[in-house]
Amino acid sequence: MPKPELTLYLAAPRGFCAGVDRAIKIVEMALDKWGPPVYVRHEIVHNKFVVDGLRAKGAVFVEELDECPTDRPVIFSAHGVPKAVPAEAERRDMVYVDATCPLVSKVHIEAERHHRNGLQMVMIGHEGHPETLGTMGQLPEGEVILVETVEDVARIAPRDPAKLAFITQTTLSVDDTADIVAALQTRFPDIVGPHKEDICYATTNRQEAVKAMAPKCDAMLVVGAPNSSNSKRLLEVGSRAGCAYAQLVQRATDIDWRALDGITSVGITAGASAPEVLINEVIDAFRHRYDVTVDKVETAVENVEFKVPRVLREPA
Ligand code: SF4
Repeated sequence: MPKPELTLYLAAPRGFCAGVDRAIKIVEMALDKWGPPVYVRHEIVHNKFVVDGLRAKGAVFVEELDECPTDRPVIFSAHGVPKAVPAEAERRDMVYVDATCPLVSKVHIEAERHHRNGLQMVMIGHEGHPETLGTMGQLPEGEVILVETVEDVARIAPRDPAKLAFITQTTLSVDDTADIVAALQTRFPDIVGPHKEDICYATTNRQEAVKAMAPKCDAMLVVGAPNSSNSKRLLEVGSRAGCAYAQLVQRATDIDWRALDGITSVGITAGASAPEVLINEVIDAFRHRYDVTVDKVETAVENVEFKVPRVLREPA
């Protein structure tokens, strides 16, 4: 029986960003330089396939620094860490490498600058996400107020409404964040902030590609992890942009084929921590069942690259 025809729209850009690419390189180079085991505090990036691959090469993933021996190197994840973590590593005389994405570090520096200028910070972010914890942990307790929604803006009680600044998590929905920023500016007209927000180029570009792709698709799949903030945002953006069905899958085996019954087009994208090999696996699964025509939906071309820290570029 001939396979049914399917147009597979492939978002570009999709998948790995420069910060994730750098963080993985850091772990691999640390393993080459110091040999296994190398400890990594928190999942280096939110992707099980990547984490399992590094674990197989000798990386040991832990949640807290006190789970690491002091005589082995430790790496901090791309999401960033509270200031207390490197301070504790130094106190314990440990070798550590910080894989915090430079675009997250930029937000940390911004927060410190505002703090030095006497401003209290409002952070737009998701409670409990490692990046939010890391960014809030750059300043003393009570100096950063977290807001997640427009409704939260009405509830907060800053020390001095005239002395406020805002910062954001890098992986938020561009549209939701614009609404929260507008609510902050209405309630606190003197609030200081970045030109737009701190959402990074990779998050913005992936959301733009999904917006362009979603209205053409009967269904959309986002390759990514359930704990990946930017992958979850891609799902929301796709649904809002007009795609009737959107599903997050970690691998091809997660695809719910029954839900896709009768479709003639599908859109595929991937969060910033999903490797291309998993995207290809999903495409191959469609090729197996359908007569697939791939149509790329490209809204930006990326050529961002971040250097790894100097300690890894120097010989052992
Ligand atoms: S999603 Fe953005 S901020 Fe996060 S690691 Fe990638 S480039 Fe950096």
